Amino acid sequence: MNREFYSKLIFELSRPGRRGYSLPSNGLGTAVNLPDNLSRDTALDLPQVDEPTVVRHYNNMSTNNFGVDTGFYPLGSCTMKYNPKINEEMASHRGFKSMHPATPAVASQGSLMLYYTLQWMLSEIGGMAEFTLNPFAGAHGELTGLMVIRAYHNSRGDVKRTKVIVPDSAHGTNPASAAVAGLEIVEVKSRPDGTVDVDDLRPLLDDTVAAVMMTNPNTLGIFEKNIPEIASLVHDAGALLYYDGANLNPMLGVARPGDMGFDVMHINLHKTFSTPHGGGGPGSGPVGVRAGLEQFLPNPRVVRRPDGSFDLVSSPDALGRVSATLGNFAVAARALSYILSLGQEGTMMAGTLATLNANYIKESLKDVYKLPIEGVCKHEFVFDGLADKSTGVTTLNVAKRLLDHGYHAPTIYFPLLFHESLMIEPTETESLDTIDEFIAVMRDIAREASETPDVVKTAPHNTPIGHPDDTEAALHPVTTFDQLSTTKD
Ligand SMILES: *Cc1c(COP(=O)(O)O)cnc(C)c1O
Repeated sequence: MNREFYSKLIFELSRPGRRGYSLPSNGLGTAVNLPDNLSRDTALDLPQVDEPTVVRHYNNMSTNNFGVDTGFYPLGSCTMKYNPKINEEMASHRGFKSMHPATPAVASQGSLMLYYTLQWMLSEIGGMAEFTLNPFAGAHGELTGLMVIRAYHNSRGDVKRTKVIVPDSAHGTNPASAAVAGLEIVEVKSRPDGTVDVDDLRPLLDDTVAAVMMTNPNTLGIFEKNIPEIASLVHDAGALLYYDGANLNPMLGVARPGDMGFDVMHINLHKTFSTPHGGGGPGSGPVGVRAGLEQFLPNPRVVRRPDGSFDLVSSPDALGRVSATLGNFAVAARALSYILSLGQEGTMMAGTLATLNANYIKESLKDVYKLPIEGVCKHEFVFDGLADKSTGVTTLNVAKRLLDHGYHAPTIYFPLLFHESLMIEPTETESLDTIDEFIAVMRDIAREASETPDVVKTAPHNTPIGHPDDTEAALHPVTTFDQLSTTKD
């Protein structure tokens, strides 16, 4: 493959006068004259390329991209777990695909039934009274959930609750959502075993606390065993307990947040329920509430009438709307398709398998990668870099070396609790062979790091781009061709 050619922009392949396509004459001649204020002063600056160049350019670009259909992601559901093709087929059904978002309820009974069925199934899975599918992402779900909590406190005239308690191991979106909701963030510490320190939490709870946000299993993949005690402390203080269920994978069919004492939760359909995401969308962050909080969910809500028909209703106590339509409908269609194709038994096995796969990798690698927290993990776990730190090979180097072996890089340097965090989550969808191959490659990299560290430190060696300046790219992203030419000069 000619790397030089395939790493060029389409504009760089342009040659004056070269054509890939010619438009037929419109047959109108000068009969139609556009008003001056609507016509361009200068010709449109389009690349001038022949058809084979265009075809090769885009096809090669698509193969430079990594996707779950071409390889394994070591941080599965958080980045991407396999998206079964049946989901795509269901979501692109003509009846759903061609539906106008403003179709009245009476003419969209099928779509509303789909929405209602998923809402009901998520309530069963989460142990909640009702779910809304309207939020567009996990972070949007958190914001919605916090707004539900605020609407609840306000409805009781309890208006001085302005704080949200968030563990130091929490996903960054937790404090961010609390800030967007106009709430003050108070951090609660973790104990050395990675779980929330109940002794640190106790004195923080008073009548100014609106909610405590928890992730269980937390971002280290550790199950928080003290939830019943935490739930009663939080409820005694008059606050509500929020469950970040972005990654509900290991809980499927094993435990329900509602049964643990959580009041409000969100789920990421684009993580747990195998719907594709990336590059900012499309996601879905349904929010569930326990009985007594349904009326605060965003409008509109989908309900089932006694005659079996479905309808949209608005509640005066609701926090308002969080979306123009009923959320990312096609994502909901994919998630429902996933649940229905697994069935009750399959859905209940997913959590156990995800947990088994993660523990298998952890135990197979912990002699060569440093495991900071021993014991059984849930769906994911975190290494603190290589066990042998003497050669200076970092987690970043290991992640880049994985690219040479055809793997997507795992999440690195998160959570912030360790210096060399490397997070692994295989998910339930991968076969034993895929997992064994990954383990072999990780062991190879560890051996290389000791024997020929420079090979790992200078990786990747086989990708079109190897070492972009991350800081420069974040501070001064070059997003247009014009900028690129200026940068080159
Ligand atoms: C991914 C994730 C989120 C945020 O979800 P988005 O859809 O990316 O906004 C929140 N919490 C946890 C624990 C997550 O893993």
